[in-house]
Amino acid sequence: MNIKQFINFSELSIADLDAWKEGGGKIAGVYCIYAPNELIRAAQVVPISLCGKKQAPIKEAERELPPSLCPLIKSSYGYAINGNCPFFSAADVLVAETTCDGKKKMYELMGRMKPLHLMHLPHTQKGEPALQYWLHGLRELAVFLTSFSGTKVTDEALHARIGEENAIRAELAKVALLAADDRSPLTAGEILAVQESKSFAVYPEKYMTALTGLRRDLEAYLEQSGLPARSGARVLLTGCPAGKGSDKLLNIVEELGARVVCMENCTGLKGLTLPVDETGDPWEALARRYLQIPCSCMTPNPNRLESLREMAEAYRADAVIDLTWLGCHTYNAESTTVSRFVEEELGLPFLHVETDYSLSDTEQLRTRIEAFIELL
Ligand code: SF4
Ligand code: SF4
Repeated sequence: MNIKQFINFSELSIADLDAWKEGGGKIAGVYCIYAPNELIRAAQVVPISLCGKKQAPIKEAERELPPSLCPLIKSSYGYAINGNCPFFSAADVLVAETTCDGKKKMYELMGRMKPLHLMHLPHTQKGEPALQYWLHGLRELAVFLTSFSGTKVTDEALHARIGEENAIRAELAKVALLAADDRSPLTAGEILAVQESKSFAVYPEKYMTALTGLRRDLEAYLEQSGLPARSGARVLLTGCPAGKGSDKLLNIVEELGARVVCMENCTGLKGLTLPVDETGDPWEALARRYLQIPCSCMTPNPNRLESLREMAEAYRADAVIDLTWLGCHTYNAESTTVSRFVEEELGLPFLHVETDYSLSDTEQLRTRIEAFIELL
């Protein structure tokens, strides 16, 4: 099973990025799963995630941003200003969105470094006006992308890209479910790497081939008889996005003998379980699908609770851990609603953890999580 190609996916993708750029291709840096990849690719532009997941650049960011902002915003900004991120350097333009307040204000500063298009996202998923507003935002993004790539976004191209992204999302979701099998050899960190790899795929066909290979290998592995099964508690992780470099919670859970079998967050399944309708008008289908993403910046945010219900059942979760990055007010406040839902509706134990990217609280976290897991 070639898991290594996914563990080092972002580093390996740099060669593909260089080749794409040498051929005259354009790159858009994106920061959120509301960025519509299908639309960006239909304009012949490659979307690459610039979302900061590491502690290292935060110190530089704090020279310009308040230390009380969430680490994801500071890390993303730090990478933009420190000149050490090959992906930020490679991006011709940035596609941003009005999700949380901290990000919006950070984008104002970032917009001084590269051309930045801000998508105005409604903060409710309900009603026709919100949908039309977002649909208008998608069309504005297309105009912006065309203005620098020179490629007009046609319905045909959009249809093709929607099919391609749906197939990738479906394949990733299959891999996630196989990897959650008690006999799966993959760790939570490895599953996270596979799910994050999508954000760095330059050539979708090549990426799909690698993913399908992994899925087939996993299926073949699990068909073997007599495989040892892991017995630790099965944990569903929800909340803020976490990634390579901000995965201390995942590591602690696994070190304590439990398993994160499902990640509901944006680096996990949140973006993978919502296909775009492939019939009818592709613009409207795209707008409807992206508006349904269950982020805490939406109010109300009932889709998150429904996703949790479905995932808890599909992944046979024994407990739910809700991760909030310090300074993330929307996920923090929403945790009360989520805890009530998990405990009262799903009947599962719930733990809310508030932390940042630094390792300074690792032992405190370990003690809390150990006590939680012992009760399962
Ligand atoms: S948590 Fe919300 S704002 Fe953050 S990446 Fe996900 S959808 Fe975007
Ligand atoms: S984790 Fe929260 S505060 Fe940070 S960027 Fe995402 S929504 Fe905003």
